This record gives sequence, C-alpha cells and structure tokens, in this order.
Amino acid sequence: MTDWEVVIGLEVHARLLTRSKIFCACATDFGAPPNTHVCPVCLGYPGALPALNRRAVELAIRAGLATGCTIQERSIFARKNYFYPDLPKGYQISQFEEPLATGGRIGSVRLRRIHLEEDAGKLIHVSDASLVDLNRAGVPLIEIVSEPDIRSAVDADAYLTRLRQILMYGEICDGNMEEGSLRCDANVSIRRPGEPLGTRAEIKNLNSFRFLRNAIEFEIQRQIVILKGGGRVSQETRLFDPASGETRAMRSKEEAHDYRYFPEPDLFTLSIDRAWVEDVARSLPVMPDARVEKYVAMGIPAAEAEALVATRELADYFEAVASGGNPKAAANWVRNEVLHLGHFRIEPVMLARLIAMIDAGTIGSKVAKEVFQEMAESGEAPDAIVERRGLAQVADPAVIRDAAQRVVEQHPTQVAQYRGGKTQVFGFLVGQLMKQTRGKAKAELANEILKELLDV
Ligand code: ADP
Ligand code: MG
Ligand code: ZN
Repeated sequence: MTDWEVVIGLEVHARLLTRSKIFCACATDFGAPPNTHVCPVCLGYPGALPALNRRAVELAIRAGLATGCTIQERSIFARKNYFYPDLPKGYQISQFEEPLATGGRIGSVRLRRIHLEEDAGKLIHVSDASLVDLNRAGVPLIEIVSEPDIRSAVDADAYLTRLRQILMYGEICDGNMEEGSLRCDANVSIRRPGEPLGTRAEIKNLNSFRFLRNAIEFEIQRQIVILKGGGRVSQETRLFDPASGETRAMRSKEEAHDYRYFPEPDLFTLSIDRAWVEDVARSLPVMPDARVEKYVAMGIPAAEAEALVATRELADYFEAVASGGNPKAAANWVRNEVLHLGHFRIEPVMLARLIAMIDAGTIGSKVAKEVFQEMAESGEAPDAIVERRGLAQVADPAVIRDAAQRVVEQHPTQVAQYRGGKTQVFGFLVGQLMKQTRGKAKAELANEILKELLDV
C-alpha cells in the first residue's frame, strides 16, 4: 500500500583531509596514542586563541563547488554551547546563521547548506570509568545538510553514495565510514501525499550504508504503526541500535539542547574572495554525474556508467582505455576483467592496444582473455605476447579452406550425418577444424567456410 509518503533529510559530517586541526597546528593522524595531538587551543585552556586553517576553508570551498553550491563571500563562526566531557571548551566552534556554502544539489536532492566546524573528542568507556581522548578535538569537519527531498531508504543510500564519491573525487574527505570520517544523521517523517510535512525523528549513529538503510526502514514502519493507531509521532532524537535493528528514543524536543549560539568573538568574519573560489574551481576534477552523462553519450548503458564512476581511479582508468577508440569494449573489459582483478596493474594504453587487436581481427576474444591474464602477470605488451606465443588468428580464407577440406575428408561419417539433416554434428566438425588450426582460425570465417563445403 502506498498511502504514505516518506520524507527524509540527511545531515552528513565529513572529516576534512587536512594535516593539521582547524584552529591549531596539532596533527590530525587517525589512530595515534590518546592525547598525543593536543595543545592549549584544542584542550580549551583559558586564553588560548584559535587561528583558522586556510586548507580547511579551501576543502570546504571544494565541497561547495563540487556540489553546485554558492560560496558565500562572508560567513561567520559561532559558538554552539553545550556541556560534555569530550568538549573541553564547553562549546563547539561551528557556523550557524551564515554558513560558508548554500544551495547546490546532489542528483535531484537540493542541498540547504555546507558549513565548517570542529570535531569533538572521543570517550572511551572501560569497566569502571570513561576516558577522554582529545586527539580528535578540533579536527576540521564540514556538515552537509540536505533539504527533505529524499523519498526512500534506497534513495538515501544513493544520495550518500554520490556525496561520498564527490568528496573522495575532490580529495576533500577519505570517505572512511568505519573510522568515522563520514557520519550520517537521518531525519525521517511520513505524511499522506499532498499534506504538509509530518513530524520528524532524527536518527543518530548511522556509520554505514547498511545501518542507514535499516534505520530508515525501521523508522518508517514505526511511524506508520503510530499514525495508523491514531497516535502522533513525537519530535525527538533517536539512536539506531545495530544489534536489534531498531531505533530508540534518546531525547525529546523538550529535552533538546538550547545551544545559545552566538558569534565567535575570537575569530574574524571569514571572507573568501572570488579569485580564490575561481582558483579552487579550476583545480577540481570532473565529478561523477558529469562523467556518467559523458559515458552514456558514448553509448554505455546508464547502470554500467554508474559502476564505472564508483571511484575516480576507476573512472580515470576507463577513460584512458576508452580513448583508444572503442568505449563500449573498454567498458566491458574494465568492468569484467580489470575490476575483478581488483587492481589496475595493466597500463590503460596496453589494454586499449589489446582491444584494438581484437577489433582488427588479429586475435579473438577468447585468446584475448588469455593475453590479458598474461599482461597482468608479466607486464608485457599484448602484441609482444601474441607474437612470442604465435597467437595471431588465422584469417586467411585459403588456409582455413585447406584445413576444412581435411576435416571433411577425415570425418566422412559425421559429414554424411550432417548432410542427412543431423545438423547438430556441425559443432563437432567446427571443433575439428579449430583443432587443425590449433585454435587460431578466425571463428566466423571457420564457420562460414565449413558450411560452404558441407552444403554443396
Ligand atoms: P535542525 O535545525 O533541528 O537541525 P533543520 O530544519 O535544519 O533542523 O533540518 C535538519 C534536517 O532535517 C535537514 O536535512 C532537513 O532536510 C530535515 N528535515 C526537516 N524537516 C523534516 C521533516 N519534516 N521530515 C524529514 N526531514 C526533515
Ligand atoms: Mg541539525
Ligand atoms: Zn591543538
């Protein structure tokens, strides 16, 4: 039954690929021993002053441009006040009323904003205590907030997939969800089609694609049950429990924090000039959407094109192979062979050359697979392998006709059967012909010539 429309907006936090933190010179290395990358600024000592990391701003600009946002010439840092042991200052520096980037879209989903902020530290719970690691405190993040334009768990997955790809293409974030480089909160509500937006629940703790899909699916069913039973969904923050696959209430709207945002007095208004934005724009690679469009225009089916843009490395590799002149064959080889090998050991020009040899009739596709394997192992050029192993196809009709003649003479029984109407033996006879030519006869030619001789 489709009597409910699902409405979803995602808030995604992405850790920026800077070497140092956003307001101090401490390193951002993931996995360092606890509290080894800390200083008075990120420990929140009184009197320590933040100094903005230019590279963090640049990466946020990259994210904004890569998603079609407008980069604001001025944006403002604000203090978001709350108490928690992993937040030594008692506030997080974020952007509130005037974010760095606005507008933009990913596919059909509009973006509301992208802003810069700092990460908090991490609590480690041991048997009888909680320990604080502040290595992560002050690591730069961007938050990407979508409009509530997503309509299903599958679409949320597709949105996050594309967003992750964009961030990775742009070398903005490493996209590692297990390590928390990319974290997602999902706002979910349902409504009767045409009605105003329903009350939403915000689900935290979604650090994998599977959790995102499962949490949304669970939440939709939970809300349907409430509304069908005549109840009301309450606006609250919920936590997803991967073990049970359920979401449960964490805090209600009444318990929601009042962050008492106010402009950060220790930082200037952030002004970004046009020239910088234009420089950054020029340094961005072509993004996945534009590549999918280009590949489809080359005659590649959309689903295949989508698979080819999964990573920038794969897409670049495919494009290099396709520039050899046969994009459809390039797509097949890259998807079926290169991707299965799991690496790109074969130089794209070499693969393009192999494809050109098939197109020229020098080798058949079966032999080509063999040559490909050998290329992967030895790094040799395809022409060299074909030459050395004598794999070139026999495409001379006279040579094939001679061999076919011998087959006909050597197998009178089968020839008689074929001529008597038992056409299945044709396969056997072709097999014999291939044997005669040691597998190198060009297949179409072998079929054609053998038929000619048999059909007299
Ligand atoms: P907050 O200020 O509490 O973070 P916002 O209005 O900024 O709330 O929205 C946060 C996120 O929630 C956005 O991604 C937005 O698209 C989404 N959202 C807002 N209203 C709804 C709703 N009724 N249903 C689903 N998602 C919503
Ligand atoms: Mg929010
Ligand atoms: Zn520091």
